[in-house]
This record gives sequence, C-alpha cells and structure tokens, in this order.
Amino acid sequence: MQQAPRVLLRIRPGEAQNAQSIQLADNKQTTVLINGPKPEKAAGKASSGPQYQFKFDSVLQSASQEEVYQAAAADVLKSALDGYNGTIMAYGQTGAGKTYTMSGGRKQSYAQRGLIPRVITQLFSELQSKPSQDCKVNISYLEIYNDSLYDLLDITTAPHEINVYEDRASKVNIVGLRSVTVSSEKEALALLFEGEANRVISEHQLNRESSRSHAIFTIGLEMRTSNDLSGTVVASKLNLVDLAGSERVSKTKSEGTVLKEAAHINKSLSILEQVVLALGEGSEHVPFRSSKLTHVLKDAVGGNCKTVMVANVWAESSQVNETLSTCRFAMRLQ
Ligand code: ADP
Ligand code: MG
Repeated sequence: MQQAPRVLLRIRPGEAQNAQSIQLADNKQTTVLINGPKPEKAAGKASSGPQYQFKFDSVLQSASQEEVYQAAAADVLKSALDGYNGTIMAYGQTGAGKTYTMSGGRKQSYAQRGLIPRVITQLFSELQSKPSQDCKVNISYLEIYNDSLYDLLDITTAPHEINVYEDRASKVNIVGLRSVTVSSEKEALALLFEGEANRVISEHQLNRESSRSHAIFTIGLEMRTSNDLSGTVVASKLNLVDLAGSERVSKTKSEGTVLKEAAHINKSLSILEQVVLALGEGSEHVPFRSSKLTHVLKDAVGGNCKTVMVANVWAESSQVNETLSTCRFAMRLQ
C-alpha cells in the first residue's frame, strides 16, 4: 500500500506594512485563500484579481518552530525508531523559509532551532529512555548542485568521486560520502554545524549559491535489542532535505550559469513530482534514476516510508506568483 506524502503549508509572515496575499479559509487550518495578481487590463484600477483556494493536510501560519516540528517531524522520527525510513523536505522559492524550517534562523537562538536540531535532540532523548536497545547513529550530509554530489562533511573531496549506486537489495549507497557514527546529541549537532559552515564556504569559494542546491542531512539508525539473541539489526534512515529554490528564472534576464542551474533545479523538482505521483498511482515505472535527487532519496520515499513535504510560501502580495506555483506543486502531490 502506497502512502501519499503528508503535505503541510508553512506561511512565512511578510512585513506588516506590505499587502498580504494569503488568508486561512477555515478554522480547521487546512484551507487557504490566495488573492491572485490583478489582471493586466485592470492594473491601476481598484478591481481585484482572481481568488484561489488550496487545501493541505495542515496549514502552519504564525507557527513556532516547535509547532512545525510537532506537525512535520515528530511521528516520522517515531517511525524511524520503529525501523521505517522517512523523508522530510522543505520546498519553495528562495526566501520563503526552507532553511529556517529545516535548520533554523541564522542567529541560531534556541527557540529558533529548526527541524534537524530538534530531531537530533529528540532522537537522543528517546534512545536514552531505552537503555536495552543498542542503537548506532550515523550522520551524513550531502549537497546536490547541478546534478553532481558534494560531501558537506568533507569539502576536500572532488565531486566526481561521489556517486550513487544500488546494492542487490536495492538499497541506495553513496560511494565516497562520509558517514560519521555519533554517540551524542552534541556530536550530531557539531556535524550539522560543520556541514552548514562548509555549505557557506563552498558558496564563497566555488561561487555556488546555496539557494541553488539541494542539501540532504541523513540520520541512519542501526538498532539491536540487547536481549534479542539472534542479533537482528533493524536499520532505518531519515532524510531531512532543504530543496533548491523553486522560483522560475527568467530566460530573457539571466544567462550562463544561472540558466544552467535553473535547468537542473527545474528538472530535479519535476522528476521529484513525477516520482511521488508514480508512487501514489502504484505505477511500475518510477523514474527514480532520472535525477540524482530522487535516486538518493529512492529507498526513503513511498512504500512503507513516511514522506512529508513542507511547502514554504511567503505571504506578501509581491510574491504571489511564486506562492501560487508552490501551492499548485504541493497540491498535486497529495
Ligand atoms: P530559504 O531557505 O527558503 O531561501 P530562509 O530560510 O533563508 O529562506 O528565510 C529567509 C529569511 O526569512 C531568513 O532571514 C529567515 O530567518 C526569515 N524567515 C523565514 N521563515 C521565517 C519564519 N517563519 N519566521 C520568522 N522568520 C522567518
Ligand atoms: Mg535556504
């Protein structure tokens, strides 16, 4: 039985003095109304544009980071501890709050911590409460830029040295990617920060803007119950994904590198959509291998895996075209 992903809409508040395009349509917090752009002809006149309605599993408006954690990640972590793979992705235009959702605010205040540090904290607190279970925790942090893989925990590695392959059990392996075993929350958080610092370094040194790449933080679990004499190991993994900005790039205004990046992003996000839809339809052909992003995520989406998409939008009217495009993408996945 395939599970459709759970799709949440998170609304980043706009500046209060600017016009806002989104309002909640119901008190169940599942439906939003969006005031579309005014039609060209009516520009300047008082008439308003069309209104659009979208429904999600949940709408997170003015939600705290803890509320977002509870809505998006708490049950996925619980399933991972029961042996099921999971993937949580943040989708949306640059500036809509994907990195804020996944990693946290730039100032890294405790209350602003994002999903990844919260998952880490909760994971180690759960493990401490189950002393009879021996659990090995492995961390890796991968960046995908222009369909090439980079190791955020080892920026000295040349990108071509990292590659994806599937073993006989169709388990995805990434050759050359560092996977670090950690034994505490502190060690895991240190790797998250190291990867994030490396992302900033490669942004400056290699001129690779982070909003143009996908970043995948993976927590691998290998659990063994000490009174289970058979020595069975239950393994699972959790992918926490900060996707590249989904905004459309104008072909007339940009050139060279920017167009190439945009082409790679469009392709990988569209294949991600095709993969989710094919899984939902139970189709025999799921185009996992058509992009590095979906290939890497292959064994942690669909099937018994928990998949959550947090669609991030920016509430200001000036951003409404991208907001509509994000909502349409997210709706199609449900
Ligand atoms: P993205 O990663 O999608 O490009 P960011 O996460 O970098 O966007 O967010 C852009 C800016 O908006 C950052 O300064 C971030 O701290 C702020 N921001 C995003 N979402 C929120 C939110 N829900 N509440 C407060 N500030 C936010
Ligand atoms: Mg970002």
